[in-house]
Amino acid sequence: MSEIAIIIRCGLCNKAFSGPREAFFVALGAHLFNPARDGRGARFFEAISRHAIQEHAEIYGAAMGLSTRFMNWKVTEMFKIDDPQIADLQDRMRWMVHQQTIRERAGDLSVRASDLARTLMAFMEHNTNFAEIEKYAQGLFEGSLSELRDRLEEPDRYPVGDNRKPPEERNSPIIAV
Ligand SMILES: [Zn+2]
Repeated sequence: MSEIAIIIRCGLCNKAFSGPREAFFVALGAHLFNPARDGRGARFFEAISRHAIQEHAEIYGAAMGLSTRFMNWKVTEMFKIDDPQIADLQDRMRWMVHQQTIRERAGDLSVRASDLARTLMAFMEHNTNFAEIEKYAQGLFEGSLSELRDRLEEPDRYPVGDNRKPPEERNSPIIAV
């Protein structure tokens, strides 16, 4: 298979680096660089890592610190620790990782809420049966809340075992990408 070379630029200082695109699939995938198979890719990734360490040490150091804390957090999560202060520290770590990985933020919910209210009012213009209105409203709200949940929790974003194919982008009135 022929290699595809790419040129990337540091987002902080604009320095350019070139190397095999495949390096990212190894680095971001779930396997390690194999020197025999992807030596050039490994050297490419080493070069950009060295740049990060040498030129942007503060940011790299913070990432290293975070990865250590994340690993330690995973270890502590394996144990039952009945201590509210430790539980609080664990939850702060979970929250910090969560904040850094949120893909989408909820948009203007008041716009969506008024859409739902108008839809419900329109239904009520032609129907005065309380039981039917309740059923309709429940379906309306459940649909909207389910969509919000799925967009935020992303349960089906990637099929298990497939980390390369992004899903179809969907437009949501609730979520601002
Ligand atoms: Zn740089």
